[in-house]
Amino acid sequence: MSLLSVSDALKRILASFQILEKTTIFLDKSVGRVLAEDILAGTDLPLFDNSSMDGFALCAADVTQAGSSTPISLEVVDDIPAGKMPTKKIQPGQAARIMTGAPLPPGADAVVPVEETDFNQRAPGTPLPEKVAIFKAAKLGANIRKRGSDIRRGESILPHGQRLRAQDLGMLAMLGVAQVPVTRKPRVALLSSGDELLSVDEPLSDGKIYDVNSYTLRAMLNAAGCEIIPLGVAADTPESVRAALEKAKDADLILSSAGVSMGSFDYIRAVIEKDGALSFWRINMRPGKPLTFGAYKNIPFIGLAGNPVSAFVGFMVFVRPVVKKMLGRRTQAQGHMRVRLAEPLQSDGRESYLRAIIHRENGQLNAQLTGHQGSGNLFSMVQANALLIIPAGVKSLNKGAEVEAWLLNS
Ligand code: AMP
Ligand code: MG
Repeated sequence: MSLLSVSDALKRILASFQILEKTTIFLDKSVGRVLAEDILAGTDLPLFDNSSMDGFALCAADVTQAGSSTPISLEVVDDIPAGKMPTKKIQPGQAARIMTGAPLPPGADAVVPVEETDFNQRAPGTPLPEKVAIFKAAKLGANIRKRGSDIRRGESILPHGQRLRAQDLGMLAMLGVAQVPVTRKPRVALLSSGDELLSVDEPLSDGKIYDVNSYTLRAMLNAAGCEIIPLGVAADTPESVRAALEKAKDADLILSSAGVSMGSFDYIRAVIEKDGALSFWRINMRPGKPLTFGAYKNIPFIGLAGNPVSAFVGFMVFVRPVVKKMLGRRTQAQGHMRVRLAEPLQSDGRESYLRAIIHRENGQLNAQLTGHQGSGNLFSMVQANALLIIPAGVKSLNKGAEVEAWLLNS
């Protein structure tokens, strides 16, 4: 069977997925979720002219001659804390004590910070003075945050497809968006398979190993923003595989690992073929050559290769883009950069994803492989901070050659 290129396989897989429906959630639950609508500003920000300093609001024209040896004395007529409205209009010769964020009183057109007055270094609770001496001239508008100077009502603030970060939540709060329109989380049914697999809390016995992929894939699905339907570990019988897949009813995707190579006990493929639709591919890729794609009872199915590194890389290359598409995320390629090889390397002509550590040396990014590159060698993945992508057709590269790197955890 001929090998399919990574990009063709990805295109064919992506074509089977659509963006999911929109839902509305509370702002405090929205970090990491993906906006389903553009967010436009419903108001100007700041909402009202306010002071950016603790100081005195006054008429700039009154203090043009103020200096440390020529203080100007003004009558203090009001005290404006944050959250309260001014009660007086400021006339020439007058000032109001004002706190950071408090609304600017009418008539005032500048704020002089307390540090430039004789009211500096007063303890909280100090009563309002009758007069204040100003030691410095103020420009018109000094220390005033004008209404709408940051954001204008109607302005586009956050685009649909944006994955919400802490600062985005703050922005939404600033705009008074309590209910956030987001894409529903993809539901992914996750299955491991193999008679040799034990859950990590079981005692080891002869010939058995711990189930690794359930943990890595679950963590990657969570990080990508999915809800997980755990299907556990299927034994190497068609009945066990079928029983597990039956639990996937509401899933948007079934993701399994192992049981898709040419082994005598690889039943995943057989079950999908019988009860669903199978496109079984061998991909021109290392690691992760065997890949099963299809559907089980109309639910899309991706079967990754079983070795832990193959499953991990397969997730990054094929599953993460699918999740991003279902979520409607805008950014498709992330964390790619060009680096230089710190050592020569051999490849086998498949598109290869090699584990490497990238470090900066003399302003240059250099990449060193982290050790054994076998598809079961998870230790070299743990030590790596990037995957080097060696294109199909390349068999060897010299030290100093430039290659593409894909940063892990980006
Ligand atoms: P298979 O495709 O079922 O032949 O699996 C390929 C290799 O991956 C075998 O050595 C399996 O023991 C190993 N393997 C499969 N699934 C897992 C898993 N969930 N955790 C750790 N190793 C696995
Ligand atoms: Mg197996």
